[in-house]
Amino acid sequence: MEKILVTRSSMPTLEEYAEEIKDLFETHWLTNMGPKHNALEEKLAEYLKVKNILLFSNGHMALELLIQAMGLSGEVITTPFTFASTTHAIVRNGLTPVFCDVNPEDYTIDVTKIESLITERTSAILPVHVYGHICDVEEIERIAKKHHLKVIYDAAHTFGVEYRGRGIASFGDASMFSFHATKVFNTIEGGAVCFNNSENGLREKLFSLKNFGIWDEDVIKDVGANSKMNEFQAAMGLCNLRHVDDEIAKRKKVVERYQERLGRTGGIRISQEQRDVKANYAYYPVIFEPETFGKTRDEVYDLLKVNEIYARKYFYPLTNTFDCYKGRFDLGDTPVALDLSKKVLTLPLYADLRMEQVDRICDIILGK
Ligand SMILES: *Cc1c(COP(=O)(O)O)cnc(C)c1O
Repeated sequence: MEKILVTRSSMPTLEEYAEEIKDLFETHWLTNMGPKHNALEEKLAEYLKVKNILLFSNGHMALELLIQAMGLSGEVITTPFTFASTTHAIVRNGLTPVFCDVNPEDYTIDVTKIESLITERTSAILPVHVYGHICDVEEIERIAKKHHLKVIYDAAHTFGVEYRGRGIASFGDASMFSFHATKVFNTIEGGAVCFNNSENGLREKLFSLKNFGIWDEDVIKDVGANSKMNEFQAAMGLCNLRHVDDEIAKRKKVVERYQERLGRTGGIRISQEQRDVKANYAYYPVIFEPETFGKTRDEVYDLLKVNEIYARKYFYPLTNTFDCYKGRFDLGDTPVALDLSKKVLTLPLYADLRMEQVDRICDIILGK
């Protein structure tokens, strides 16, 4: 039986990577904003259609340091239907996450519920473009303006996504991307913060925070961390960026096959295409309604597993149910997210997943 994992990292050929890193063995410049790092920043800013970009060692540190750089205080409105990183980044900055529910259509923040959660302690909204589905960026902007709040997007899943021809990171005050090995575009580990408005000193602040708070040799102004992207990571990024459009096109084919096979089955809910959005086909989440489908999510998960197919219960558990946050949050606040977390399964999806593999996965799910 052929084993199928939920994802498989994109990589260039060994020859292409070897060629890209060759000069590092002459220059011995391995990290600290070297030529590869700078070249990748420039190429990514163009690809992502955003004015400012800073690279980081990983997406989580990018988000943590972005929150620090924005000087937020008190409460931050966010969602629990996400990866651990989003909530941890808020808490590790000494801030209080206030959980807003998600909407049942695309699983992003339910914008009709944000305003009721705003208090005098609220300083920001931190929504997640979950699975590559974009949030209602216009409504979030309207709410944020009205209440003088900052908006930071967790855009870890939306590499290359565009809305009405604009790069997704051009919305809000800033956005974080993850370039982890499992994401649509990877630098092995890596991440970025992107934003359009640079008149507020955000660029300088972030540059300092990822390098110990050092402004120049004699001046250390911030309590910074170390989160610089090294040259081997950047070289991987330069290679992968050459192929990412092809990879996304191949992902699209896989998604279309899944839609074809699973789309009209009673008790299975799949994601719909969003209007005016150029998608990246990052994940394929499926919701199983046990009453109509006849099997629970966990039963489908186990059934795939005995067939050596490893789907993921992504996102389960919700971040507001984590052991480390025990007793701090009321699950009754996010009933839609809680329900989704019990019914969702993300199916294997990567560029080189073959159509017969997709068919095998669908046959097992449909009991054929
Ligand atoms: C992957 C991910 C992160 C963290 O990114 P890393 O690069 O793995 O540190 C943050 N948020 C979400 C939603 C993610 O999926």
